[in-house]
Amino acid sequence: MTDMEASSPVLCSYCGASLDALETHFGDVCFGETCIKRRAEQDWGAVRDRAAGTDGVSDPETFPATPIPAQQRKIAPLPAERAALFRAHLEKTIAEALTLESEGASFHEAEPESSWYAPALGEWLGAICASCEGYCCEAGGDTAFISTDTIRRIIRREPGLTAAAIAARYIERLPAESYEGACVFQGPAGCTLPREDRANICNVYLCKGLKTAKWNWEETGVRRAFLGRMSTNGLESYSFLAMDESE
Ligand code: SF4
Ligand code: SF4
Repeated sequence: MTDMEASSPVLCSYCGASLDALETHFGDVCFGETCIKRRAEQDWGAVRDRAAGTDGVSDPETFPATPIPAQQRKIAPLPAERAALFRAHLEKTIAEALTLESEGASFHEAEPESSWYAPALGEWLGAICASCEGYCCEAGGDTAFISTDTIRRIIRREPGLTAAAIAARYIERLPAESYEGACVFQGPAGCTLPREDRANICNVYLCKGLKTAKWNWEETGVRRAFLGRMSTNGLESYSFLAMDESE
């Protein structure tokens, strides 16, 4: 076997495109619209149709198959050690952000408003994330993705804020209880930070299921989905979610 053959890229099962590291991590299909939707229908179409029979849903084909992760973490008091870790990260990041700002260093964080979706779509995607109970927020850990760019966005929006005032607005939002081991701000009712103070990734991230929902909405304008909540054990639960204009 030649070196070239040994390092051959992994290819998408549908379109043959090379998969990047993230796509390979999630399976054998690229994140292109057509391929994700084909995989969703292949994996979940039959499950949806069986579930419709059980639930008495007469028009399952109007609920696009939309696999999402199943939240399995429990709600528990936020440990003091984790709050302290976040505080240390925050204070260091604020100090660095103030220095960078005073030096006029380059700035990467887009204003979140520029990345938000049309209200109807944002509402629809939010409903699906609520149904998933914020699985992906586990990645926020003890930092909540707060970076110097996040802090600099606040400084630019509200010039004159002191380091202590910026720190206080985060610390006072830490929930008493959160999902065990997930982001320190993931409380029982969801994220306790206002959108404008979250890291940009929190406002723009779409998992594969959410991408599917977004594309389906853009194609049809219909806010319906068959949500299959998946864990490593398989299908944990499902629901037919509809947010039709009349509802
Ligand atoms: S983006 Fe996906 S994983 Fe994250 S909360 Fe929404 S549905 Fe769940
Ligand atoms: S800050 Fe909020 S949206 Fe971002 S990871 Fe934490 S809980 Fe999720």
